[in-house]
Amino acid sequence: MTHSAHILVTGGGLNGPALALALAQAGFRVTVIDSLPCDTRADPAFDGRAYALALTSRRLLAAIGIWQHVAERAEPMLGIRVRDGKAGGSAGPRTLEFDHAEIEEGPMGHMVEDRHLRRALLDAMQEEARITHLAGETVTAQEVQPGGVIVTLASGERIRGALLVGADGRHGGTAARAGIGRMEWGYGQTAVVCAVAHEKPHQGIAHQVFWPAGPLAILPLTGNRSAIVWSESDTRAARIMAMDDAGFLAALRPAVGDVLGALSLVGKRFSYPLGLSLAHEVVAARVALLGDAAHGVHPIAGQGLNAGLRDVAALADVLSEAKARGEDPGAPTVLARYARWRRFDTATLAFATDGFNRLFSNDNPLLRRVRDLGLGAVNAVPGLRRAFIREAAGLTGDLPRLMRGP
Ligand SMILES: Cc1cc2nc3c(=O)[nH]c(=O)nc-3n(C[C@H](O)[C@H](O)[C@H](O)COP(=O)(O)OP(=O)(O)OC[C@H]3O[C@@H](n4cnc5c(N)ncnc54)[C@H](O)[C@@H]3O)c2cc1C
Repeated sequence: MTHSAHILVTGGGLNGPALALALAQAGFRVTVIDSLPCDTRADPAFDGRAYALALTSRRLLAAIGIWQHVAERAEPMLGIRVRDGKAGGSAGPRTLEFDHAEIEEGPMGHMVEDRHLRRALLDAMQEEARITHLAGETVTAQEVQPGGVIVTLASGERIRGALLVGADGRHGGTAARAGIGRMEWGYGQTAVVCAVAHEKPHQGIAHQVFWPAGPLAILPLTGNRSAIVWSESDTRAARIMAMDDAGFLAALRPAVGDVLGALSLVGKRFSYPLGLSLAHEVVAARVALLGDAAHGVHPIAGQGLNAGLRDVAALADVLSEAKARGEDPGAPTVLARYARWRRFDTATLAFATDGFNRLFSNDNPLLRRVRDLGLGAVNAVPGLRRAFIREAAGLTGDLPRLMRGP
């Protein structure tokens, strides 16, 4: 045994480091293990995503000392405009409109680019004495023993902890090794992701156009730039990815419309195959799952990372409370509290995003009528619109302490 920690975290993506920082702050010693070397993940071109972070996710990031390092590069989302697009046609009139001024807490969210968030998390882990970060190391086995759990790394090193947290994404092995099965299916869609610069200012407005092949999101970034998340059928996405930049922009322009004026590409294009991946349980003996390891969802509502950060805040609450009471952090009663808190939310998010995608990603005239009526009804009723904005801001439900704000 090379060393031991209170809490072992497999996965140093986004949720794993956020949890490690929250737990270190609460006095736990944490070891975070990730297969990828730090240099790979610190490379600005590693991941092209930008995240719509809900107000409550921002509060959590502020509480763990990350927000202050990304705030200047974050763009507030002041409104959302939704349109429906017909196959081969143009986007229809606005059917739904949300304005942040309808809630008193401030912007419903901020757009933050992965490259800034990832870097801030890596730097903060490095500065925290209670965190050991093993980058470029892969967990190959885990074994539950009386009073603890041991993980084995590909290098042969073995590390002991009281609890193993699986933050290793949809394809990580922590859940399977703990005997937790998954419900999984693909959508036959791939998200093409990039950043564009544009002629007209975005004014903090996010646009969502529901095209029959999948949704197109245009999300405000700092300066005159926006993030594009363009969900298309797998075959069309592959064709789009193979186009040169001029061909790509020519295909993108009609889908975006003229809300932002002339467009140009900033940086590379990235693609992400889309699917649902939901773990049957979020806990097992001495194991807790969070983030995409527990629930990988369609990005249609921009909620995957927000839900992961909610797991982080809930688990940090449960473990801090257990510590204060002198309980074993890996005890079944402690893990059951976390499972009770997160199970319902997680399943609801998975099925809501799945249902939305099925309802909106098609050109069936009957379903088109249903969604037009639904969107029109939400838009017409201020109380309902406000409820949607509060949901998008993450302000509903039983908020963990780190998400309640100062
Ligand atoms: C196109 C797109 C747009 C999105 N937009 C949004 C958005 O606007 N808002 C939002 O909230 N969410 C969004 N999401 C969702 C969000 O990207 C994910 O929920 C989030 O990145 C998941 O982070 P994670 O840390 O849980 O997992 P990951 O980022 O998958 O990290 C898992 C880590 O585990 C490591 N690992 C795996 N196996 C092992 C092993 N055996 N040993 C050691 N390490 C291992 C991997 O190297 C990896 O670093 C979007 C997703 C997509 C695809």
